[in-house]
Amino acid sequence: MRVVPSICTFCGVGCGLGLRIEEGRVIGVEPQPGHPVSQGQLCAKGWATSFAIDPYKRLTQPMIKEHGRFRPASWGEALGRVAEEFRAVLDEQGPGGVGVISCARATNEDNYAAQKFARAVLKTHNIDHCARICHSPSVAGLARTLGCGAMTNSIADIDVADLILVIGADVTENHAMIAARMLKAQARGATLVVVDPRKTRLARLADIHLQIHLGSNIALLNGLLQIILDNGWENQAFLESRCEDIQPLRQHLAGLTPEQTSAATGVAVAELQRLAFLYSHAKAAFTAYGMGITQFQSGTNNVIAVSNLALVCGQIGRPGTGINPLRGQNNVQGACDMGCLPNVYPGYQDVSDPAVQATFAAAWATELAQTPGLTSQGMLKAAQHGELRALMIMGEDPLLTDPNQNQVARALAALDFLVVVELSLTETAKCADVLLPAAAFAERDGTFTNCERRVQRIRQAIAAPGLARSDWQILAELARLMGYPGMAWADSEALFVEMAGLTPIYSAMSYPALDLHHGLQWPCDAAHPQGTAILHEQRFPRGRGRLLPVTQVAPDECPDADFPFAFTTHRLHFHYGSGSMTRKSPLLERETPAGLLIMHPADGVKLGLHDHQGVRVSSRRGYLETRVQLSDDVPAGTLAMPYHFHEAPCNRLTNDAEDPTSKMPELKACAVKVEPLPPGQAPCIQAGSHEVRHASL
Ligand code: SF4
Repeated sequence: MRVVPSICTFCGVGCGLGLRIEEGRVIGVEPQPGHPVSQGQLCAKGWATSFAIDPYKRLTQPMIKEHGRFRPASWGEALGRVAEEFRAVLDEQGPGGVGVISCARATNEDNYAAQKFARAVLKTHNIDHCARICHSPSVAGLARTLGCGAMTNSIADIDVADLILVIGADVTENHAMIAARMLKAQARGATLVVVDPRKTRLARLADIHLQIHLGSNIALLNGLLQIILDNGWENQAFLESRCEDIQPLRQHLAGLTPEQTSAATGVAVAELQRLAFLYSHAKAAFTAYGMGITQFQSGTNNVIAVSNLALVCGQIGRPGTGINPLRGQNNVQGACDMGCLPNVYPGYQDVSDPAVQATFAAAWATELAQTPGLTSQGMLKAAQHGELRALMIMGEDPLLTDPNQNQVARALAALDFLVVVELSLTETAKCADVLLPAAAFAERDGTFTNCERRVQRIRQAIAAPGLARSDWQILAELARLMGYPGMAWADSEALFVEMAGLTPIYSAMSYPALDLHHGLQWPCDAAHPQGTAILHEQRFPRGRGRLLPVTQVAPDECPDADFPFAFTTHRLHFHYGSGSMTRKSPLLERETPAGLLIMHPADGVKLGLHDHQGVRVSSRRGYLETRVQLSDDVPAGTLAMPYHFHEAPCNRLTNDAEDPTSKMPELKACAVKVEPLPPGQAPCIQAGSHEVRHASL
């Protein structure tokens, strides 16, 4: 047996693991000793990695759909068909008619290739990925206040914080090794505070849990700021030397009272005052947040409110502090860094900037579009209107993970042509016209960038099954077939060298340098060849930190007489995303039943429901059937469901109302009603199913 060092393929923590290889197969994994992030440990998902890439149920050859069924095809035939379909739409409709949705699970190399294919070959900036529905408000909000949307500090800063504030993040479930580090910090004396409408596992273990009303984040953060400013607890020296626009913020908060904040959030005045005092007086307060901040129509303003709090108290730019968005997927940070966003090239270089356009046009030896493209949600809407007709989806499963699934299904059905690059036959892959088999992370070389901006190497440990290939190799061949020779890289390292040459924040990185240091944190350039653990120590990228007044906005859809419950979604420790990888593990699969509806016992009594009774849950957009679990994890009047399960796909219910700045849909809040199924009737997993052009293999 040999052990090949690699990185966990699930969440954005980026734990180091070793792939145990025997006779050409991954037979298990082990934690990487001495790894700076995971420190020789893995969570339950990390330990189950080998199941995720098991050849069982993998796609092993290209498929073309004919008469509603997939048939095997050669690479030549399948890619020839893709090239022909893209060309036909480009000829008839121009670059606005095509688009690419890349993948936060794939490597940086794959994502660089995806955006280059979209921009240099298809001539469109219609390129996006699932960061749109997790941290696009972080990118937009922190860009406005600091000039950079990434986690400001490192995971290791938790070890030196004396207060840890977690807002809208279910850390034990989603970023388990970070939660472990937070609990260790609490054990050595740090104060752990959780702000969440649900009693998450971390909230139950915290020193303080503020159980706010769903969607009242800005009300809470503004209320804390008002108490801090009224008491003179702000960091005056930091405000004077590093920030701007404190006066408009003071004026904005002047009329607010703690009693009003208490009424808006459901948190007692004394608790508000206690947290305001502790946060402003902490020597080092580490602020972490997740999708309980971002997945609202006020997502960008929620992030700005978090930033205001940290700036006013000077809790940024030092060890143990910072504004730290916990990124979801293993490489969502990297996919953003690589420019898989419709408005920026790699390294967040503006597509509208003529100098940037000229740089990329010269480097790629081609003309490039000059205006930003469509977001992933924008592409799906354009498909419904017949404006976008051919789409490539790499490794994402929007039919399960995007809001308002019936709408997503209608959009995919409206396309003339859909090509999906995937490991296995996901719900979205079933809708494809051409299906291309991708190599998994253990079957290719490349890099992932974790949530603390650490770029780390993964290495090919085994051969890909059947004819599966790396995504970048598929895209390079497709580019060649479509007449563009500029993607003929010899290997993933050559691709990385090209990318680093065009991406200033990665410019001093190379495979050998990454191998030496357990990765490097960007910015890593001539001035910082060893990378950067803490951002903004001396100055912010935009100069001064900007304080921006923001106002509480209620969720787009609040409970009413027809739909009387507030509804939110969450994730589970034992599963990831659409479950396409974690649900292959019998060990993980046995841990949780699929998709229960969590309801407070008092609401169960009102509706006459008992534990595990079958129910129908409906919103204005669709319905599903599942079983209810009575628990005080949620307050009375609020319901929650995990989104991993195709048997109970809760995104049929969720709302696609958008944050106007980042286009983030409001996945975290909508209104639903619940009806008991007749006694003895089991929930039907097909109930409410959408009309899609599904096919089986
Ligand atoms: Fe993998 Fe995340 Fe668990 Fe680490 S915390 S082992 S990266 S799933």
